[in-house]
Amino acid sequence: MSAPTAPALPSPRPALALPPRPALRRGLWALPLLISLVFVAAVLAWLRANEQSELEDQRTELASDALSLQAQVSGRIENETARLIRFAASLEPRGLSAEAFAAAPEVQQGLHRFWVSLTWLDASNRIVAHVPELAPRPDLPSLAATGLSAHIRVPLASGGALVARYSPTDMLRQNVPWWLARKYDVRLVDSFGDVMASTTEARDPGDHPSHRISLEPTLTDSYLELVARDRVTRWYRSFPMAMVAGFVLLLGAITWMLRRQVHDVSRAEAAWRTEAAWRSAMEDSLTVGLRARDLDGRVLYVNRAFADMVGYSPEDLNGLHPPMPYWPPDAIDESMQRHRRNMAGDAPRGGYEARWRHREGRALDIILFEAPLVDASGRHIGWMGSVLDNTERKRLEDRERRQTDTMAHHARLTMLGEIASTLAHELNQPLSAISSYNAGVINSLQRDARPETPADPAVLRALQRLGEQAAHAGRIVQRIRQFLTRREPQLEACSLNAVVEGGVDLLRRELARQHVQLTLALAPKLPPVVADAVLIEQVVINLVRNAGDALAEQPQDAARPRHIDVSTLRTPDQRFVRIDVRDNGPGLQGRRIEDLCAPFYSTKRDGMGMGLAICRSILEAHHGALDAVESPGGGAWFSMTLPVDLAVTVGALETEAAL
Ligand code: ADP
Repeated sequence: MSAPTAPALPSPRPALALPPRPALRRGLWALPLLISLVFVAAVLAWLRANEQSELEDQRTELASDALSLQAQVSGRIENETARLIRFAASLEPRGLSAEAFAAAPEVQQGLHRFWVSLTWLDASNRIVAHVPELAPRPDLPSLAATGLSAHIRVPLASGGALVARYSPTDMLRQNVPWWLARKYDVRLVDSFGDVMASTTEARDPGDHPSHRISLEPTLTDSYLELVARDRVTRWYRSFPMAMVAGFVLLLGAITWMLRRQVHDVSRAEAAWRTEAAWRSAMEDSLTVGLRARDLDGRVLYVNRAFADMVGYSPEDLNGLHPPMPYWPPDAIDESMQRHRRNMAGDAPRGGYEARWRHREGRALDIILFEAPLVDASGRHIGWMGSVLDNTERKRLEDRERRQTDTMAHHARLTMLGEIASTLAHELNQPLSAISSYNAGVINSLQRDARPETPADPAVLRALQRLGEQAAHAGRIVQRIRQFLTRREPQLEACSLNAVVEGGVDLLRRELARQHVQLTLALAPKLPPVVADAVLIEQVVINLVRNAGDALAEQPQDAARPRHIDVSTLRTPDQRFVRIDVRDNGPGLQGRRIEDLCAPFYSTKRDGMGMGLAICRSILEAHHGALDAVESPGGGAWFSMTLPVDLAVTVGALETEAAL
């Protein structure tokens, strides 16, 4: 069979020795939250840094795109200007009429590009020719639709000028590449910020990043402005930010739950600590020894009381297998047998007595109760024994038995003395009579003797010897009596209540065996009496024992339980104290105290009939009296009276008053 694992039993000094939980440990539940918040802060910082870098990139890209577009637009306008200069240079040498001017390929090409009109002015600024003539051509964009116009003026050698008006909007639309137009709103603005042309519908750039770059000297007071269509998503609006927010919320909920859990655990732990402290304190204060063993008999745990009882420390005993060090060396086999019986589960349910040996060698009488030890799942894992130290009780019982024996012996001796006294008293008369008759016979024989018929000397000698023997018998009886009643009453002031209590206590077991109840009603402040406490106690014992015997003789009746009532009181004339012993037994049945106190009067099978006679003579020796009457409720009522020694009483009262 495999050895079961040791159950988790408390160590001999469990919870009280545990250090209190530090504040740091109590706040441990917040640690995951702190770490997560640091992580979240790091993510936010990263998001922000990322945004800054994206903004920076966007700004750089914007600036470079603006520069490249500026170059493109400037180049385009310069190109147009160069074409117009070339046309202006060729215009006068060619001698073109106004019609021919309008039909000139350069003019038509210019109008097809983005010119809105071309005007030929002479030196006096009069219009020589103007293309288109009348209404604007439907295939050409109208200025109303395209916003403000701009113009390129080129002087002619004759002093006139060619003025080409164009739509900056068209110019922009033609020159801004598609990929740039998708990224930016491209606009021409003046120094006041008014939009002159735009690739898109006019709209407020808002907080979209933009870059403005001057078109000087190609175009005066004009700026090219690029407004980014897409904004860099703000870090707090980004998807990771939404994730982080969700994460923080989730974390908050988890932390809240964790905190509740930790609080519950803390409460449970505090309750456990309190309980463990209680249990430890209780175990330490127990006078009952506790011993837990596994199924093989190995000691798992002993409490302080057990360790103190056998004189070994718990550390010495824990883990030990039988034979145990506290088993008496001369009874190892017997102890081992008992151990095997216990391990088989056959230990007496009501406990059993055994003898162990203290480490210092003295014998220990113990009473042991074995009970199965089960774990939390109900599995039988060993045996729990509770051990009572019975040594002192046994010792007291021995002493009590010896005392009772001694008392009985003394009682017998006293009784013998009384018997001897009675015998002496009773034999005295016959012996005196024998002596008198003997003396009379001798006298008469001597008187009647004649010289011729003298008294037979042999008869005389025999009669003398008879007288001597009778006297000797008297002396022997007297001596025996003197020997047995040699003890003089040792008188001293004593409390009658204490004497009564002492006597009754000695009989309690006997009365319990006889199923007799006893009540004591002791008068308070009873004056002391001068008496021999031992003898008076004997009287009390005799009266109570007689009452018990009388009750035990009659059958038990639940309606009328056997009862003895012992009381003390001071007589109304204050001169005596009285002890009453009343029972609810058969009563005196017409017998008087003189009958009961007659020597050798007994109705008991093994009674001697001397008890009451001795009681009476003891009381009379104390100048007291014994009386017996029928109790009003049925039963016998014995009273003993002792005189109060006034001198002693007054002395005692004075002392009390002085105190
Ligand atoms: P013993 O006890 O040896 O019989 P005692 O002198 O003590 O001698 O008692 C004498 C007798 O008195 C008893 O045998 C009993 O008949 C009677 N007696 C004594 N006490 C009581 C009592 N309380 N109730 C009835 N009878 C009693």
